[in-house]
Amino acid sequence: PPALRIRSLGLQIGGIGILDEVALDVAPGALVGVIGPNGAGKTTLFNAISGLVRPTEGTIEMHGTDITRLSVARRARAGLGRTFQTSSLFPQLTVRENVRLAAQARVGGSYSLVRFPHRDDEATRVADEMLAIVGLTHRADARAGDISHGDKRKLEIAVLLAMRARVILLDEPMAGVASGDVAGLVESIRDLHRATGCTVLMVEHHIDVLMGLVEKVAVMYAGQIIAFDAPQRVMSDPLVQSAYLGSAA
Ligand code: ADP
Ligand code: MG
Ligand code: MG
Repeated sequence: PPALRIRSLGLQIGGIGILDEVALDVAPGALVGVIGPNGAGKTTLFNAISGLVRPTEGTIEMHGTDITRLSVARRARAGLGRTFQTSSLFPQLTVRENVRLAAQARVGGSYSLVRFPHRDDEATRVADEMLAIVGLTHRADARAGDISHGDKRKLEIAVLLAMRARVILLDEPMAGVASGDVAGLVESIRDLHRATGCTVLMVEHHIDVLMGLVEKVAVMYAGQIIAFDAPQRVMSDPLVQSAYLGSAA
């Protein structure tokens, strides 16, 4: 089954259609870009997939299981991970402690408030493995609040991996990242995808970033997915050019 299978997804808020008959099949292990002008419904689609909002119609399946009515926590346990446009890290904890906390939640048992009582325990081993995947090993002992925006995005991904996410939704991961750090973050996303086989959907406005990275691009416009194809094909479509490039920032 597809990693994600979305059918007839609709969301109305106050009588206004925010998502309209959205259909999408994402193959397991695919890396997919999501583009579209501001207000198109990209974040709302991620919210619906992750359970933050309940759709008014339609279904969402993940790896063949209907998750439409599951809570946010149950979807997370089923392997769904997402980042937000604002950061959700513990700034006072170190990079490794942030990931270790997530690993601990999955491994089970209570997290000791004494910092690193057992540096060689299972959760720490998982944390170090995930930090290596995203290329953050050299920042493991830095305070999360002190690292660059680009490294924070990498850390958020490592946290999701430690929670054993298999389908990862990244909402504008490049936002706020210094231009010099964008290439490094793109490499981390490429590495995460290669190393883990996770399915990744990312909202990204920079077409040049997506061109060399993703296999497919979904174009959202006015609550609909108006195209879903290889990036080169999508960007050469005249309708997409006028709909997307006509209104994007
Ligand atoms: P994007 O991420 O593509 O910029 P959003 O998903 O954030 O778009 O928003 C899509 C539309 O839905 C916008 O018009 C936004 O104002 C509206 N919207 C999103 N969430 C709510 C909400 N909770 N209540 C009312 N309108 C909302
Ligand atoms: Mg927006
Ligand atoms: Mg958004």
